[in-house]
Amino acid sequence: MKRIDGKVISDHIKALAAAETEQLRAQGVTPCLAVIIVGDDPASRTYVNNKKKACELVGIRSLEFALPGTAAQAELLALIEKLNADSAVNGILCQLPLPKGIDEKTVLTAIDPRKDVDAFHPVNVGHIMIGDPVLLPCTPAGIMEMLAYEGIDPSGKNCVVIGRSNIVGKPMAMLLMAADGTVTVCHSKTRDLASITSQADILVSSVGKPHFVTPDMVKPGAVVIDVGMNRDENGKLCGDVEYDAVAQKAAYLTPVPGGVGLMTVAMLMKNTVTAAKMQMTQQG
Ligand code: NAP
Repeated sequence: MKRIDGKVISDHIKALAAAETEQLRAQGVTPCLAVIIVGDDPASRTYVNNKKKACELVGIRSLEFALPGTAAQAELLALIEKLNADSAVNGILCQLPLPKGIDEKTVLTAIDPRKDVDAFHPVNVGHIMIGDPVLLPCTPAGIMEMLAYEGIDPSGKNCVVIGRSNIVGKPMAMLLMAADGTVTVCHSKTRDLASITSQADILVSSVGKPHFVTPDMVKPGAVVIDVGMNRDENGKLCGDVEYDAVAQKAAYLTPVPGGVGLMTVAMLMKNTVTAAKMQMTQQG
């Protein structure tokens, strides 16, 4: 089994983003990412800190806007409007989940699609749906980069995605289909899940449950991508896949930590640079 190393591949993506940032700087543009965090969820704080660190490494300017958990939706929308209008800001990201009382859909739709570096805005989702992507959703796009780096071509392969969220499962299915994979999407109402997953040449698990993917669900020689970010019974970070047991059967497997999560941050850097380049052209 080959362990797909998210550290090596994400470093590669960040190095490319850093080189492009350098070129933009030489043209007088420093890509800038604005990150909004509402409330004090510890996991969100860790994610935001990781994103800021990656910006520093790549040479992207990062701005943080921390609102209290009690902030009103109107306050958040006013901030987004201000950042939309600020030509020095190329990317805007609002860390999810948002506190109760704030409507996620309203907030994500308020972000200018050209600055939507998470690619959650319906306009960007629509672009992905029609096979004409502009900004790509970071986690699924990061997985496509992992496959490409390892020389794994989804074309003609049976690809099974477990999970149908807007953030991971659905866009993952779209990207695999755009790459000519034959895609099946499974979810909590899927019957006899193992009979479907065990046909998969490429299996992506985005369920969010530890020990969910067991060896009986995996085809011998499959590529298994673990998106899950969970805590096990000892509070240790783990994915959805029973790593050691599935490693005996799969040909490729991503670890948690050290896998997809690192790619998500690297793709955010790439999207911020793409957004800056797009905005430069538009401003002419
Ligand atoms: P989500 O919105 O909770 O979606 C989970 C999906 O799993 C749903 O579609 C659900 O089906 C499905 N599911 C639940 N139980 C199932 C079962 N018994 N059999 C088959 N399908 C089942 O979660 P998400 O936002 O997609 O995230 C999934 C996981 O990925 C989480 O652990 C999250 O932390 C992690 N994540 C990691 C990254 C990263 O960068 N590595 C990024 C995003 C998310 P229904 O639709 O029927 O409910």
